[in-house]
Amino acid sequence: MFRKRLQQLADHSLTRRLMALGSATGPTVQFRGRQVILLSSNDYLGLATHPDVVQAAVRATEQYGAGAGASRLVCGTLPPHQLLESSLAAFQHTESALVFGSGYLANLGTITSLIQRGGLILADRLCHASLIDGCRLSGANFRVFRHGDCAHVESLLKRRRSDRPTLIVTDGVFSMDGDLAPLPDLASLAAQHGATLYVDDAHGTGIMGPMGRGTIEHFGVEAQIPFHMGTLGKALGSSGAYVVGPHDMIDYLINTSRPFIFTTAPPPGTVAAAAAALTVVQNDPERRTRLWANRHRLFEGLQRLGFRMAPTVSPILPILIGDAAKALAFAEQLLTQGVFAPAIRPPTVPNETSRIRVTVTSEHRPEQIDEALHAFDLAGQATGLL
Ligand SMILES: *Cc1c(COP(=O)(O)O)cnc(C)c1O
Repeated sequence: MFRKRLQQLADHSLTRRLMALGSATGPTVQFRGRQVILLSSNDYLGLATHPDVVQAAVRATEQYGAGAGASRLVCGTLPPHQLLESSLAAFQHTESALVFGSGYLANLGTITSLIQRGGLILADRLCHASLIDGCRLSGANFRVFRHGDCAHVESLLKRRRSDRPTLIVTDGVFSMDGDLAPLPDLASLAAQHGATLYVDDAHGTGIMGPMGRGTIEHFGVEAQIPFHMGTLGKALGSSGAYVVGPHDMIDYLINTSRPFIFTTAPPPGTVAAAAAALTVVQNDPERRTRLWANRHRLFEGLQRLGFRMAPTVSPILPILIGDAAKALAFAEQLLTQGVFAPAIRPPTVPNETSRIRVTVTSEHRPEQIDEALHAFDLAGQATGLL
């Protein structure tokens, strides 16, 4: 049975396999015994290996142990958890914050607490899989709107019974496309129609907005969007996720959110690392400056070479290919030329939209970006994409 299902995937070039790196994440990594330029990590600010962040993880592990020992509500809430939650709330200018074990769990746990059977969810077609799973698990009626299309959202809102509890769900920065949700318009639509807006800012946290508070800060709509979710495993270089918002809402999540309640608390080291990363995000804005300069250099270069790029405005730079087999062949050529950037295929992206999702970090040197562009040129020629 397994073999047959796997063969079906292979027939469509959709088999996945684990590709183990031989070293820590960074601008370059060891892979299959040689050093290659890494252009697929979400560690946008290089914080996973920042000395302060690593130190904080080591110190907290020494002081509080490798694991928290229980769920948060039993005896798994330790000083690092309290420190991280108060730092997140202060950073995001909200009353409270709650940390979850991962972004996946935060989405399941928050959506299912916000809406249940009888309610209506409107979700962007390109929402992250964890949002879709949260919507399904909630039992609410679930409708998809065209990507970023506020007119479509409005028509769906107008057609519903106006007293029906309604949740609008979107990524802030879309994880596979690198574009932004129209948050100001979605927030006004939600307000006009008595709906609630839920923003997953996994790829905005730490990098978008002047202070790195995310996509909501980028658009200046903090007052209109009183709560949101973000993650600690991408720009913050650690692991886990958070919801920030009003005290009552966080208290409600603590009391109702099953993926918060029925799981062991995140390890003290991980949590302390995230708190240290948050300090770096606030004290070292130069990293964001370098990130955006690198992003510009790589994006311009890829466009100049003639690749078909998605309309991105973030450090996520998708080269659109379409066919899954072609995307795989291109990724393999890139690797031969010394660049690690795997193909992204369905079901992570819609059918016939396979791509190379290129990402860049603040820690790549300009010479490495130029070297990578040369590799893209050679691989593009070798596979007939250019
Ligand atoms: C990565 C990601 C998640 C999942 O976060 P994890 O902490 O990795 O579980 C959720 N939403 C979006 C948009 C993401 O990109």
